[in-house]
Amino acid sequence: MATAGKRSTQLKIAGQVITRGETRKIDLPFSETYLGTSVSIPVYVMRSKKEGPRVFLTATIHGDELNGLGVLRELLYDKVPALKMGTLIVIPVVNFYGMENHTRYLPDRRDLNRCFPGSASGSLSSRLAHVLFHEIIRKCDYGIDFHTGAIRRTNFPNIRANMKNPATRMLAKAFGCELIVHGQGAHGTLRHTATQAGVPTIILEAGEVWKIEPMVVEIGNRGIINVLKHLGMVSGEPTPSLFQVTSSKTVWVRAEAGGILDFRAKPGDLVAKNQVLAINANIFGEENRKLISPVHGIVLGISTMPAIKPGEPVYHIAQLSARAVSQVRKLLASADASHAYNRMQSDLATNIFTHE
Ligand SMILES: [Zn+2]
Repeated sequence: MATAGKRSTQLKIAGQVITRGETRKIDLPFSETYLGTSVSIPVYVMRSKKEGPRVFLTATIHGDELNGLGVLRELLYDKVPALKMGTLIVIPVVNFYGMENHTRYLPDRRDLNRCFPGSASGSLSSRLAHVLFHEIIRKCDYGIDFHTGAIRRTNFPNIRANMKNPATRMLAKAFGCELIVHGQGAHGTLRHTATQAGVPTIILEAGEVWKIEPMVVEIGNRGIINVLKHLGMVSGEPTPSLFQVTSSKTVWVRAEAGGILDFRAKPGDLVAKNQVLAINANIFGEENRKLISPVHGIVLGISTMPAIKPGEPVYHIAQLSARAVSQVRKLLASADASHAYNRMQSDLATNIFTHE
């Protein structure tokens, strides 16, 4: 796989040159505390002796989304890939401040993932975005950024990518998730800005905040290694997904009445139009109304909170054709229970009632 010829073969981060064949941990300073001590992003750089693609992996841009940190920690500790060529730059924690405070945001109350490419003379968030973007992202050829659902939601693992861009489409397909959601990403997100700047970047959305979930770690590592194999940086054949579908439209199903939900559809379930997703009942168990899927699709995410008020989002459905839903249902019916897809579903479905 060809690499972009746009940058020099020298790799310098925070003023330090990383030579070919070298693996090194670097502290990349981006701010200071009230005491005037330096605050840095810890960066792990692994360079093969042979020149090749440069890939960055970033997590915890949203400080409460720890699953990506879990994925990258496992990669570095247990699944260290032997690079045949190229460079891997791994940043398990970008938003150190958010992580310390158990929040998505930075202390200036900004969302870092709306601040890219940032500015050297801007706000705290903007300066952090600027340092990351210019010291790391622009020096790479490809990127994968790791996210989870927002608080009180969980996401079935899905890749978000601009499927109209050949390079991001290649990354998305190579990662090997069953579900891909097409879109460019909001303005100011890392993946949108990086892709616009010529560094094709995708994101994995998987699991929920404040957790490191074993199945997310497994799926995340499978995907990273698949991409590295596809780029020729690691030897071996990629692990295929059970199926692969792309959705270009997602819809939220919201509560229309206050009550307590009895969830019936799990993350990753294939659902038909008009299928019952959940029963909304009062505190005595008396049924109030049903939540119905307005489209054919796959359950991309759900609320983890069973108590609900009108307008609150409950199910996030990635729309698919009726044909795709029935094809995938057949495939799933014949899949082994030990397949990662089924294990992922039961792992995420901790508050789902399976009775009819
Ligand atoms: Zn996020």
